[in-house]
Amino acid sequence: MSTFLFDDIIFGPVKSRRLGASLGINLLPTTGKFCNFNCIYCECGWNSGSTLKTVLPKRQDISNRLEERLLQILEENIPLDRITFAGNGEPTIHPDFANIIADTVEIRDRLVPGVKIAVLSNASQLDKPAIFDALGIVDMNILKLDSAYDQTVKLLNQPAPGYQVEQVVNGMIRYKGRFILQTLFVKGEFQGIPVDNSADNEVESWLSIVKKVNPEMVMIYTIARDTPIQTLQKIEPVKLDKIAFEVEQLGIPVQVSY
Ligand code: SF4
Repeated sequence: MSTFLFDDIIFGPVKSRRLGASLGINLLPTTGKFCNFNCIYCECGWNSGSTLKTVLPKRQDISNRLEERLLQILEENIPLDRITFAGNGEPTIHPDFANIIADTVEIRDRLVPGVKIAVLSNASQLDKPAIFDALGIVDMNILKLDSAYDQTVKLLNQPAPGYQVEQVVNGMIRYKGRFILQTLFVKGEFQGIPVDNSADNEVESWLSIVKKVNPEMVMIYTIARDTPIQTLQKIEPVKLDKIAFEVEQLGIPVQVSY
């Protein structure tokens, strides 16, 4: 296993499979993953206990570093499509997340007004008003839901206690179509239990949620890098294409990454 950690607050621009030339912002520690999920496919590896003691980057440092890097990018004429909150865990668990988003919007408007701001979130905190509102003001609010079934989410994503698909779906509905739904399809087994969220019954129930939450776009993808366990497999392109076709039948644009 050789999973991957971002080693700075600001990284890139990197060429992203889904987001083009993307300048990343990592609000989490650089020494280990810090997330309220522990997905069995996470390319950052498992959560590390010692990470919990690590100090998170401060709001002022983040805005200073972002401004500095954007000025450099402008001076060197480096192509840039997005500023993306991703990194070593779930960005919304940073206690200053809402203020950091407000700072980023202000800096973007002033320095690179054509660049879109994206956040990749596991959607676990939509019940918190400040986080719900902050995600609501970014251009690409990309929210994860890997299954319609709590049991599958428990196995695949290992969320912190209290997570319920129904609560997440209710949060998504409140965006009234102004968000992007992201789902990673994978199959294999974990601790002897088989898992396959691309199975027909899984996809059928997932599609009924897609219809209900009606996102502006759906992004579907499969594992592309090393995962913390060796018992997972990619979903074949033909299967991803079939799922994408079903989404298109609902009148919703879909982006597939193989
Ligand atoms: S939500 Fe994202 S960062 Fe967190 S464990 Fe899952 S894949 Fe990793």
